[in-house]
Amino acid sequence: MNFAQARHWVFDMDGTLTIAVHDFPAIKRALDIPEDDDILHHLAALPADEAAGKRAWLLEHERELAYAATPAPGALELLHALRDRGCRLGVLTRNAHELALVTLQAVGMGDCFASEDILGRDEAPPKPDPGGLLHLAEKWSVPPRELVMVGDYRFDLECAKAAGARGVLVNVPENPWPELTDLHARDCAELLRKMGI
Ligand SMILES: [Mg+2]
Repeated sequence: MNFAQARHWVFDMDGTLTIAVHDFPAIKRALDIPEDDDILHHLAALPADEAAGKRAWLLEHERELAYAATPAPGALELLHALRDRGCRLGVLTRNAHELALVTLQAVGMGDCFASEDILGRDEAPPKPDPGGLLHLAEKWSVPPRELVMVGDYRFDLECAKAAGARGVLVNVPENPWPELTDLHARDCAELLRKMGI
């Protein structure tokens, strides 16, 4: 695929548009979640009362992180370049929608996305489930193969693969998942350079 021609872009947020600050092992310890468990899946399997308490803690913890967020290298420039070309831009995050809005505002990206194109953990099944990408493809009236998913983790790439979209990996120096990756760039600045736009 010629990425410079792509018109529909979906971004992971934490660690992709922003510098990663989540300390997942610490979150798991605080919530008494086994080290090898997925946080969202673990919470979904708990009794309602216990899950509600832990979800509330997680939301407050992530709210503090949201206000302190900083932009990842080249991310703002990439978004502006794509927006200037008339691209549709979305976010698919395992974070909460309201915190995604706070985070994006804090890093100066608040005007890059329509609120309804930002899908959080309550609007879409958590990645690597492709549901969020498929939803955006349908909403934007394009086949999923036209979508580019940009992320910094295996879940983002697996989500892209499962949807039939293209997967771009950024912010990971050496690519541990080449079989899942259509394009790898050191960061969004290098991605923009590689696209030559
Ligand atoms: Mg991420």
